[in-house]
Amino acid sequence: MTHQRIHNYDPRVRHPEERVRHPEHEARHPWLTRLLRAYHLSDVSTRLHLDRETARRGVRVACAQGCHTCCVGQHIPVSAFEALGLWWYAAELLPVHLRHSLRGNIARHDAEHHESTTACAFLVEGACSVYPVRPFVCRQHHTFGTPCQPGENIHETRPGDLFRYSNEAAREISWQLLPLYGVAEEDIDRLYENGYISRKGRLLHTLPLEHLLTHMDTAAAHRNRHHA
Ligand code: SF4
Ligand code: SF4
Repeated sequence: MTHQRIHNYDPRVRHPEERVRHPEHEARHPWLTRLLRAYHLSDVSTRLHLDRETARRGVRVACAQGCHTCCVGQHIPVSAFEALGLWWYAAELLPVHLRHSLRGNIARHDAEHHESTTACAFLVEGACSVYPVRPFVCRQHHTFGTPCQPGENIHETRPGDLFRYSNEAAREISWQLLPLYGVAEEDIDRLYENGYISRKGRLLHTLPLEHLLTHMDTAAAHRNRHHA
């Protein structure tokens, strides 16, 4: 697996119709199928709406390979299942050459007392180490026109250049995610409108990433036993 870039918007590249599947993992982690479906929906709708917005504005998306200013000093909200996805991917699928660097980042992150001013702990060698399961905000955040400058808060400096994710697409995603919280179908729309998922979320930089190290160790020991 190659080290993925941060943003992959390229109008020449279409998204696959089918989502990525991990049958063995999905059998072990019942929540994973809905999360992967939701991420796929998010990617497809983001691309569709970016295409439409680009045509409407006549301005290109600034996000490009290697651009990661938005991974530094940001508050990234994550729901419990997005966090589980990060834990799962980092412990079970992260390529070996990235594990060491991620461990170093997490150790630094702890030493810095989970400060939000630093780079996201998952930013490794200038790219997202957990790209396939990066949170929704990371998947949907795009800027038109000029790339963001270091330290720039685009919500304040030029909110008009921000890509606004579709409310209807977000509602569709909630139909994948809310049942994971035990929400019945008839309550999904109402709870979506009430911001149920975001109220249950945390900020990525405040998560106890040291527990992820333990989880990575356990998964590695399991793999070693399995292959012994
Ligand atoms: S949102 Fe801004 S910093 Fe992030 S990839 Fe796009 S242009 Fe770069
Ligand atoms: S998870 Fe972290 S490194 Fe990955 S895209 Fe989001 S902010 Fe950037």
